[in-house]
Amino acid sequence: LPPIHVVGGGLAGSEAAWQAAEAGVPVILHEMRGVRGTDAHKTDSLAELVCSNSFRSDDATANAVGVIHAEMRLAGSLIMACADKHQVPAGGALAVDRDGFAEAVSQSIEAHPLITVVREEITGLPPKDWGSTIIATGPLTSPDLAEAIRAETGEDALAFFDAIAPIVYRDSIDMDICWYQSRYDKVGPGGTGKDYINCPLDEAQYNAFIDALIAGDAVGFKEWEGTPYFDGCLPIEVMAERGRETLRHGPMKPMGLTNAHNPTVKPYAVVQLRQDNALGTLYNMVGFQTKLRYGAQAEIFRMIPGLQNAEFARLGGLHRNTYINSPVLLDPTLALKSRPELRFAGQITGCEGYVESASIGLLAGRFAAAGRKGEMPVPPPQTTAMGSLLNHITGGHLVSDEEPGKRSFQPMNINFGLFPDLAPGSIVKPEGIKRFRGKDKTIMKRQLMAARALDDCKVWLAREHA
Ligand code: FAD
Repeated sequence: LPPIHVVGGGLAGSEAAWQAAEAGVPVILHEMRGVRGTDAHKTDSLAELVCSNSFRSDDATANAVGVIHAEMRLAGSLIMACADKHQVPAGGALAVDRDGFAEAVSQSIEAHPLITVVREEITGLPPKDWGSTIIATGPLTSPDLAEAIRAETGEDALAFFDAIAPIVYRDSIDMDICWYQSRYDKVGPGGTGKDYINCPLDEAQYNAFIDALIAGDAVGFKEWEGTPYFDGCLPIEVMAERGRETLRHGPMKPMGLTNAHNPTVKPYAVVQLRQDNALGTLYNMVGFQTKLRYGAQAEIFRMIPGLQNAEFARLGGLHRNTYINSPVLLDPTLALKSRPELRFAGQITGCEGYVESASIGLLAGRFAAAGRKGEMPVPPPQTTAMGSLLNHITGGHLVSDEEPGKRSFQPMNINFGLFPDLAPGSIVKPEGIKRFRGKDKTIMKRQLMAARALDDCKVWLAREHA
């Protein structure tokens, strides 16, 4: 068989190369470190962890990250095997000895009879005669390749920073305080005039919120990150510092909104949340990109009426991060629609985190191998953690209906909000339990989703091997 080329030997590229080679397809892995470094990597090892040494929760019974770990193990993941071998004590989390882990990945890849590692920077889009190629060059893709990707995909399709607003689980928003309404009841294409969830603030609540934002502890930019403040993307704490009223005239403006619970009293300010996934389980806080520290964010945002019990699927951030507008550009098997022999994998597709990046590498490697062998790549069902993340990346993301064409795809960690809901009636109070509170229901929901994911993953893998 002709080889698959993989560009980038990080978390995603190493896993992709391993999966394709284990499927019997030769791989040439091109990694630039050794010839050219990045601003964050410190070694030449494959799959170097650039920051924390944690793969986060390993609880596969009720945590979405633990579920994706378990699915990857079922699929023969090299990244998970090396992480398990080099685990260090970290409570319920899977943390690793970073050097031992990266060394183990490097040795396994280099020793594989079907994988050849070439240390070189790929400076343009891979030539067509390479055939099947996976681009997994990560958040710090080298500039020449990033420029070539931008030229192929279009000006707006490649971002160099993520400006992320917090994302809230819909079922943690208090709808006795909030209401659904689009500003001026505007009905956009596919909209209903009630597309946003609105949280009202009175004057005292607004002032207390602004004080908290200004006092909040923000994270600085690293020297090499620069200060990527650009129009429409100022962190809310920076807006608050520019003037007390700035937010009330910006993302918190109350115009065109009437509180359905209290129509005669005009809110002084309003926070709007917009549906973030097709399932309607996640809502993002519109215009609330922030550099506040994570701990401060949860505390400050729960001051907003209606969000007092908010659970966050992800908190806000602003980072250097190269990623493409995958929902528009990629097909469901991660292939670039304009050049289907090219697949993308890892953080450059708009997932976030070591494990998520590796899992998308795992899928890209399997899809590419299937293609090389003349088989039809079969994506995992959306009920699995890997399938739900794949769906978020390649299609499950909504585009704003009030601002047609506005790019709103932002990187995402795995979380239960990406999973389809359970069948109605699945959550039943266990016998012999007196009180079955909202919190207990949430735990049961997560347990049922986790069990469903692992069952469905096994069926998917069995079918794939049939
Ligand atoms: P990477 O692991 O970065 O791998 C990409 C590889 O491609 C690199 O080896 C690079 O050298 C190579 N490459 C780039 N361009 C080229 C080219 N033109 N030719 C050949 N090779 C090339 N995630 C977490 O889960 N926890 C954290 O604590 C965390 N901290 C982070 C801190 C920083 C500063 C950054 C930038 C990211 C952090 N992330 C963290 C995100 C993390 O980088 C990703 O989750 C993960 O490494 C992405 O995997 P990847 O394979 O997509 O990219």
